[in-house]
Amino acid sequence: MSLVTRFAPSPTGELHLGSAYSAWTGWHRAREAGGTFLVRIEDIDIRRCKRQFETAILTDLRWLGFTWDGEVRRQSEHFADYGKVLDALDAQGLIYPCFCSRADIAASAGAPHGPVHGPDGPLYPGTCRHLSTAERRERLRAGREHCLRLDAERAAAQAGPYRFFDEPRGWIEGQPMLLGDIVIARKDTPTSYHLSVVVDDHLQGVTLVTRGEDVLPSTHVHGLLQKLLGYATPRYAHHKLLTDATGRRFAKRDRDMTIRAMREQGLSPEEVVARALAAARSSPPP
Ligand code: GLU
Repeated sequence: MSLVTRFAPSPTGELHLGSAYSAWTGWHRAREAGGTFLVRIEDIDIRRCKRQFETAILTDLRWLGFTWDGEVRRQSEHFADYGKVLDALDAQGLIYPCFCSRADIAASAGAPHGPVHGPDGPLYPGTCRHLSTAERRERLRAGREHCLRLDAERAAAQAGPYRFFDEPRGWIEGQPMLLGDIVIARKDTPTSYHLSVVVDDHLQGVTLVTRGEDVLPSTHVHGLLQKLLGYATPRYAHHKLLTDATGRRFAKRDRDMTIRAMREQGLSPEEVVARALAAARSSPPP
């Protein structure tokens, strides 16, 4: 089976050394195996994502020589694909509307038994999971703002055990409850990061997902969704996050670390790639 990798940036800022390293990983793995390298723009957050950043990211990728195969897939153009999968999960009784505001969730975090902490902060306490059908219907009829959440416990029971392979960690047993009742469709957009990434990796035939180790907890949820939806689980390679000399992660806010800034300083693409690889070597291991 031919290797298919992808780089899936959210256009909320310019490409910096850390994200360029991520792009290099996917591109390099595909090229050394004679496989396919895809680029996908994850722009479901319509408020934060900007076309100008998308253009800048693609310009930087081309300049670096990380050419991709086929068309760039833009998630905001595929809401119908995610909608179909949402309907399938709904038909299995695995999702529910959640009317809680951030303040409601923060308040329940102060409740006597809460909150349960996950790797990304407090888990949703499940308030709206317990609403009666009549109450739910009433709130929906009144047009109350809501997101949709996955009922993690039911989903876990239905899916049964699952695992995924990560390089360099090896086989990892899926922990379906790790992130709790995750948002599967946001209030402001008819999908979520978790849903669209799983659907797209499936539709695009991605066989190796290369991405930062900060997303590793999410892979437990992605494995769960893949099992529920009957999708093949790709192989994963969660790479380390690049840090500067002081051990701080490179991020979009580091202006001088953008690829554009380095280009304007007169560095060549080869020098930028060498810099990313050197930073990767000196960053703490995953
Ligand atoms: N859009 C995500 C990001 O920019 C990508 C995560 C992934 O590769 O699944 O962090």
